Amino acid sequence: MQQTLSIIKPDAIEKNVIGEILKHFEKNNLKIVAAKMLHLTKERAEKFYLIHKDKPFYNDLVDFMTSGSILVSVLYGEDAVKKNRDIMGATNPEQADKGTIRKDFATNIEKNAVHGSDSLENAKIEIAFFFKEDEIFIR
Ligand code: ADP
Ligand code: MG
Repeated sequence: MQQTLSIIKPDAIEKNVIGEILKHFEKNNLKIVAAKMLHLTKERAEKFYLIHKDKPFYNDLVDFMTSGSILVSVLYGEDAVKKNRDIMGATNPEQADKGTIRKDFATNIEKNAVHGSDSLENAKIEIAFFFKEDEIFIR
């Protein structure tokens, strides 16, 4: 059993599909064990995406991620990191498989509806970035 971090990005919040996206997690046996809605400051968004700071899309990505509220959640379940990535679909929605979140809800390669941790190690770092220990409870 693993925990992974999910973010519903500003484009999906704007499209009013939070519930539909959470349903994708639930129907794939990922349990939402923590969740909150918040607005990232520029500094926090820059820090979260620091790994991409040398990429040409970094500044636009930070602008996009601060353009509205996000919903961050911790998903818990068997093989949660990979399962969430599979449910999300490819970064570029044009390459995303049918039935994935990005196929259904992404606008383009930047405004692609969701973030998901890409490894167990990063999941731990990203969960700690947003949640305190007492905000996550697993029975
Ligand atoms: P993923 O979110 O699938 O793990 P990356 O970690 O490579 O993808 O990129 C982080 C985010 O940066 C993407 O989800 C997307 O919002 C944005 N992004 C990635 N590649 C591009 C690109 N070529 N042009 C614009 N934005 C991009
Ligand atoms: Mg990534």
